Amino acid sequence: MLEKIKQIAAEIAPRLIEIRRHLHAHPELSGQEYQTAAYVAGVLSSCGLTVKEGVGKTGVVGELKGNGTSDLFLAIRTDMDALPIQEATGLEFASKIPGVMHACGHDVHTTVGLGTAMVLSRLQDQLPGRVRFLFQPAEEIAQGALWMVADGAMEGIDAIFGLHVFPTLPAGTVGVRYGALTAAMDDLEIIIQGEAGHGARPHQAIDAIWIAAQVITGLQQAISRTHNPLHPLVLTLGQISGGHAPNIIAEQVKMVGTVRSLHPEVRENLPDWTRRIVEGICQTYGARCEIKYNRRLPSVQNDWRLTKIVERAAIEALGEQNVILINEPSLGAEDFAVYLDYARGTMFRLGIGLKEGKNYPLHHPRFQVDESSILTGVITMAYSAFLYFEQSASTPT
Ligand SMILES: [Zn+2]
Ligand SMILES: [Zn+2]
Repeated sequence: MLEKIKQIAAEIAPRLIEIRRHLHAHPELSGQEYQTAAYVAGVLSSCGLTVKEGVGKTGVVGELKGNGTSDLFLAIRTDMDALPIQEATGLEFASKIPGVMHACGHDVHTTVGLGTAMVLSRLQDQLPGRVRFLFQPAEEIAQGALWMVADGAMEGIDAIFGLHVFPTLPAGTVGVRYGALTAAMDDLEIIIQGEAGHGARPHQAIDAIWIAAQVITGLQQAISRTHNPLHPLVLTLGQISGGHAPNIIAEQVKMVGTVRSLHPEVRENLPDWTRRIVEGICQTYGARCEIKYNRRLPSVQNDWRLTKIVERAAIEALGEQNVILINEPSLGAEDFAVYLDYARGTMFRLGIGLKEGKNYPLHHPRFQVDESSILTGVITMAYSAFLYFEQSASTPT
């Protein structure tokens, strides 16, 4: 099967480059992927898939029936949105849309999804189970996966595969990770309410700025003293505002931030923990506070059996030297995590590093990919799908 997959992938390679360059030149922001969705739907229809548009607002779902020898239903998820960045690569197929760029490689993800659909549709008679391709919008604003599941995109699904490009892995390689791949992401808003007064007479006022400073350091110190250091926790207050003039004591300070954690049990306690520390400090100095702790995304926890399948597929397809075991998770967030509430899944990293020249990070205006990685992604994904059906058929559940 691997040889057949490789052969078809090689045949469609020029078309995939064309698709990727088209997508790259026409990026669309999160939630506005109208042209991209129409284009994706067109390619999927031409491969004979059953296509539904408008799933999860601007998302697209394509379904491929297998030969019916397995009841299993596998989902393959790719994301389609771009970023508000002015491209500075100078490539001939650079973004034609001012201020919008595929700087996170979602053009490559979409192309890999389409390429996998092309390959699997040509092998449909030999494909045991069904495959649902999820082309989701709005990953960058952590909304698209929620929109997709709200529209039933995960109904009936047994397992899900996903991928993300990674510039520090060279093209031709794939990175796999067992367990946590990305962090849970929550939002935090703190409003400290003191009492205004004259800057020369602090004892007659309640200084919200000074109390905010205590809260900021208090939270960071509490992380180092009250949390298990083996369970990562990052709390970043990225925005702070308060005060009017140099000689007026500020009555209110507002701070907003992001909280990242890896272990579900750590995350569980974070709203109470934050409240205890912030309220404790505010109370000590006579201020009132309002705390809003919003859970945004869980952590991507890769299922070990599915990860093993992807690892095996990648080793057979690319050779052991081209499969990298990722030894550290990222504290970045990824809304693939949302799907994992509905089925087990795994997400791998696709190496896209250029063989020559500087590799810029994701979200950089000069971010580039080595396009040979598209075939690596398609072959790994398509073969993983086959191994999933094969393996799951032979293992009693
Ligand atoms: Zn991104
Ligand atoms: Zn991304």
